[in-house]
Amino acid sequence: MNASFENWGRQGSASRPALPVDDLPPTLSKPESWLPFGNGRSYGDSCLNSGGTLVDSRRRNAILTFDGQTGELTAEAGTLLAEILDHVIPLGFFLPVTPGTALVTLGGAIAHDVHGKNHHRRGTFGCHVSALTLRTAGGEVKTCSASRNADLFHATLGGMGLTGIITSATVRMMRVASPDIRQRTIRFDGLDRYFEMIDEIDAAHEYSVAWIDQLATGPRLGRGILMAGDHADEALPTSRRRRLSVPFAPPVNVLNRLTLQAFNELYFRKASPGETIATVPWRSFFHPLDGIAHWNRLYGPRGLFQHQSVYPAEDAPETTARLLDCARRYGHASFLTVLKRFGAVASPAVFSFPRPGFTLTLDFANQGQATLKLLDALDEIVVKAGGAVNPYKDARMSAATFAASFPHWTRLEAFREPAMMSDFWSRTAMRLDRPEMERPQTALFPAENRRIAQV
Ligand SMILES: Cc1cc2nc3c(=O)[nH]c(=O)nc-3n(C[C@H](O)[C@H](O)[C@H](O)COP(=O)(O)OP(=O)(O)OC[C@H]3O[C@@H](n4cnc5c(N)ncnc54)[C@H](O)[C@@H]3O)c2cc1C
Repeated sequence: MNASFENWGRQGSASRPALPVDDLPPTLSKPESWLPFGNGRSYGDSCLNSGGTLVDSRRRNAILTFDGQTGELTAEAGTLLAEILDHVIPLGFFLPVTPGTALVTLGGAIAHDVHGKNHHRRGTFGCHVSALTLRTAGGEVKTCSASRNADLFHATLGGMGLTGIITSATVRMMRVASPDIRQRTIRFDGLDRYFEMIDEIDAAHEYSVAWIDQLATGPRLGRGILMAGDHADEALPTSRRRRLSVPFAPPVNVLNRLTLQAFNELYFRKASPGETIATVPWRSFFHPLDGIAHWNRLYGPRGLFQHQSVYPAEDAPETTARLLDCARRYGHASFLTVLKRFGAVASPAVFSFPRPGFTLTLDFANQGQATLKLLDALDEIVVKAGGAVNPYKDARMSAATFAASFPHWTRLEAFREPAMMSDFWSRTAMRLDRPEMERPQTALFPAENRRIAQV
């Protein structure tokens, strides 16, 4: 046991010891606690377990089968989405849902039920998982799907690694003519304009996401760039991607208010006024930061916090403006501010963050107490608006915010293995009053959720 592991936010936390999945004892039992670890691309502490041992799944990364007719791929849980894309793109397929980095494992993508820029069309990653194998704390290996061990299947999707260790999974890939994207880029001068056009844009395109200049004020409040697109009919000629790296964490945060003001102005002006259309390489559309290894080090030794929330569409313009304004009032600048809509495709997961509405993501350098106060203030706005804060990205939300965001959290707790624990779960769920809980005997995945769009 000698490897070290840390989360992507690096909020001053020490890295943790981990044990390779193949070296686990036959049973995992209390008083020790365990948590699977993928590739540490979680911003918060849902991938950490300070009081126990992490289970390193990354070395198990074989692609086991791929059916070129149905697009069904089975791989070990430590396989990176990047490795899956390398395998399926030459065969004319693409991941149905891809988060903003491909450097996450299959197990991590399932356990956080991740979303991509096409949530309004295809829902979450879990919508496309047809089966998985789970190693329980008792050492059993269970095959789980919607028809076999169904409750455990639905609890493991989005289950934050608390139901056991996913060892492999089968995911349906999407057939595409080209991985590259025919991208519409629309520069907009304020939030009002974004909300005026987003219905039409989402209805017309597979993907859509907006970058927002969080520092713009007055009539320019919420100005930004909307990037929407669909897979192109033909692939671009392949070009080698240059890989850059941030070799060490600078002693101070480089992404401060001054540098970000200049960056935002340049980035906004880089897009032509109005609208442009061009075919862009898939890597730069989906995973622009994957070309810079360790970019999180730019935040300096104290790291960063990400705050992602979702709130109802009805008041979304006001809620978005309130959140942006709050960050400015607290004197904080967000490097990557992203706004997008979550659609109505229900996740098959018992516990999952996305729900219909708009989602705003803000990244802040960790400035200690000042940042923690800001994050609490953002939580308050979200909860008052009837929304939720993303636990999969969080490193500090209160148990009360968690309970308000996930009133049905006990449905996951009922399936948590007693020996599995994360720092996130112990500082939120474990501090809440809990009614007497029993594993439901009947399928707990609500019938209304079963109407998953056929995608
Ligand atoms: C640049 C960047 C962009 C991102 N963009 C998005 C985005 O667009 N949408 C989105 O949803 N997320 C996004 N994320 C977050 C990221 O996709 C998730 O946090 C993802 O779960 C990380 O996967 P990982 O393999 O690194 O797992 P880790 O971070 O190591 O772990 C994540 C969770 O998975 C569990 N886990 C890992 N392996 C297993 C296993 N074998 N069995 C059971 N549980 C397991 C862990 O216990 C933990 O709870 C982004 C992150 C970054 C850094």
